[in-house]
Parts: sequence; structure tokens; C-alpha cells
Amino acid sequence: MTTATSAATTTTEFSSSLYDRIVEGGGMYTGVDGDREWAAEVKRLAKLRDATILAHNYELPAIQDVADFVGDSLALSRIAADVTTSTIVFCGVHFMAETAKILSPEKTVLIPDQRAGCSLADSIKAVELQEWKDEHPGAVVVSYVNTTAEVKALTDICCTSSNAVEVVQSIPEDTEILFLPDQFLGAHVKRVTGRQNMHIWAGECHVHAGINGDELAAQAEAHPDADLYVHPECGCATSALYLAGAGAVPDERVKILSTGGMLDAARETGKKEVLVATEVGMLHQLRMAAPGVDFRAVNDRASCKYMKMITPAALLRCLVEGKDEVFVDADMADAGRKAVTRMIGIGQPGGGE
Ligand code: SF4
Repeated sequence: MTTATSAATTTTEFSSSLYDRIVEGGGMYTGVDGDREWAAEVKRLAKLRDATILAHNYELPAIQDVADFVGDSLALSRIAADVTTSTIVFCGVHFMAETAKILSPEKTVLIPDQRAGCSLADSIKAVELQEWKDEHPGAVVVSYVNTTAEVKALTDICCTSSNAVEVVQSIPEDTEILFLPDQFLGAHVKRVTGRQNMHIWAGECHVHAGINGDELAAQAEAHPDADLYVHPECGCATSALYLAGAGAVPDERVKILSTGGMLDAARETGKKEVLVATEVGMLHQLRMAAPGVDFRAVNDRASCKYMKMITPAALLRCLVEGKDEVFVDADMADAGRKAVTRMIGIGQPGGGE
């Protein structure tokens, strides 16, 4: 079994003829195409490094195609805990790789570019959460999984978009709730549960917030037979529910789904056309799951620039150099693991973003 080694030995033991083509500039690694030669090199190096490659649904198609497993954040973290290799290469954004490390502390977890952050996770810092908690002593903290390890460590229960309603309903009615960081998911949960003593952090994802209700309404009108798949962290979830409630779009056409739920629905749909309101990378998996269906993005500019930092060059560099390794402080990991484990026991947690 091969394990990750220091940078001093990696370039000899894990060398690749494509490595010299890698260019670093503009905050990204580029210079290598995601072609067959690259894919063969990635597979060879991953085997040599005893690594399993995981890729999020929002990654570039070449990254998804070369990965051993593709899925949403929580599903991938669970797979990371079950695989028998000593190393996990997590092609996603940093908080996702941290969650994998929290659930599998004994494994080496690598991310191809540690600069791949998340505007939603970055919308609340641990110090801000601590101040918020101090203002509401006794409140239960519910955090969506898109949070840093530091924030998870201050959280009572994590949630995904699939079980956020059940998580909130599991908390005694007279107990205050601090819900973070996504204001759209928070608004969705507050509306469904009717909960009044729930405070919502005003965080948002720049990608999902960019999908608005006007665009959704225009697309729904232009494609009258298409179903609408809406991700609840998307800014148009409110509009989608409103449109359905007002009878503008038949109720059964609007489906509020996690990314994993979208794939299940795609496999079973009888529709020829489906409009998708989430990050455009999701279209690749949907088209593979149901090749006969025409999937269209509600907003084809909804692309996560952080996810797209995991380029073919970045993945190759990661496997050659054994970098970037993800570390989470042991006490912080223990606290965060409790919040994540509580989440898994409630409702159908699905797979996160
Ligand atoms: S799409 Fe938004 S929430 Fe998801 S990783 Fe990118 S910035 Fe974060």
C-alpha cells in the first residue's frame, strides 16, 4: 500500500510527464486538458497513492468522469468514511473536504486546491456565531452543512436541505433557534414549519442568489410542459412556491429537491423537458441519469467559480505532490462530528448540497 509522502519525495515517486505543463496564475492551476491521456495519468497516480477520488455534482464534467464516486456533499463524506484506501482526494470546496476529514479523521484527505472556498460557508465566522449565541442564551444552533469546521464545532445540529424541516421540528417549540447560514433555506423552513422563534442568519451563496424568480417565471412560461426542479438554497425557491401557490404553475410541476433528490426524480420522470434551478454542473449528472430528457438551466450563468477551481491541472498536481492536505483540530473535529451525527439521525438527511 502506498501512502502520502512528503513533498521532497513526491516528484520522483509520483512523477508525471504532464506535470511540467501545469501553470499557476489568476488564482488557479491550468495548462492541462482533461483528455484521455490525463485521465489515464490520474487513474495511475491515484492507484499509486492508494487514493479514492470523490467529485461533487458541481465539478467540471472531466473531473466527474474521472472520479471513483460522484455525489452531493454528505453522500461523499459517507463514502469517504467507508472506502478502504488510506487517502481521499476530495474534488469539491474546502468545507466539504473538512467534513470528510471530520468523519474520517484517520484518513489522509487531500483537496486539489485549498483556495476553493464557498461564499455561503464564508458568510458566517465562528466569532460571529459565538456573539450571536451570546445574544440568545439557551437557543439551539442549527447549521446547514455548508459551514466551516469551526462553525460546526459551535453547532448543536447540522442539517441538509432535505431534512432541515424535520431538524427544526425536532426542537421543543418553546426553544429559540438560530438557523444559519443560508437565508433562503431558512425562509423556506420557517414558512413550512410556521416557527416564530427562529432567527435566520442573512447569508447567501452568490450562485444560488443569482437565480431569480423573474427568470424562473419566464422560463416556466416558455416551457409550459416542463417540470421545475428547484434547489432550496436557490433564491428562486420562494418564487417557485409562490408561483405554485398562486396557480401560475401547476403545483405538481414544481419540485423542491436536494441535488440527490433531483437525480432520483430525473430517473423516474415521465417528462421530456425539465428546467433546473441550481448550479449548472448538476446538468452533467442529470443528463447521464436520464439521457432521454432535455434538462435546461434556468440560468446558464449559475456556475460556482470555487467548484471550477478544481481543474484537471489541479487534480494532477494534487496527485503528484500529495497536496493540499486538509487538517482539522482534533477537539474541533469531535465537536463538529457530534453536530453532523445528530443530523444523520433525523428524517431523510439526503446528501446536502
Ligand atoms: S454553489 Fe454556492 S453554496 Fe455551493 S459551493 Fe459554490 S458558493 Fe458554496
